[in-house]
Amino acid sequence: MFNLLKKMLQTGVVTTKEPFKSPPLLYRGTIDVDRKLCTHCKTCVDVCPADAIRYQVSSDESFALLQFDYSKCMYCSLCVENCETGALTQTNIPKSPKRAKEGLIESFYLTSNDKQ
Ligand code: SF4
Ligand code: SF4
Repeated sequence: MFNLLKKMLQTGVVTTKEPFKSPPLLYRGTIDVDRKLCTHCKTCVDVCPADAIRYQVSSDESFALLQFDYSKCMYCSLCVENCETGALTQTNIPKSPKRAKEGLIESFYLTSNDKQ
């Protein structure tokens, strides 16, 4: 017990209060999508180990929806690293926890006009 207390006092504070006033630059936060760079290849969906990304095309095929579910995301950055066009960026903006699951889903509308 004494050793544990001694170690805790020596280590000091190693956590940061959330939400951050200003998140550290390298903090892995939400994913941003540059719609103009997305080629609708769905690689990000395939590589996501948490099944946190959903890609769905509208019935008239006029647009697609790219959704990130932050109730599943592990912030591993694999989607960003494997997006060959650089359409994805991992920001350092934390996703605020919300009670409603819908609040943890972020959607990006991609139209065919966005393709270059
Ligand atoms: S964001 Fe990148 S990996 Fe995902 S569908 Fe678009 S181009 Fe492909
Ligand atoms: S950061 Fe990782 S877990 Fe989150 S959406 Fe991208 S690949 Fe999936």
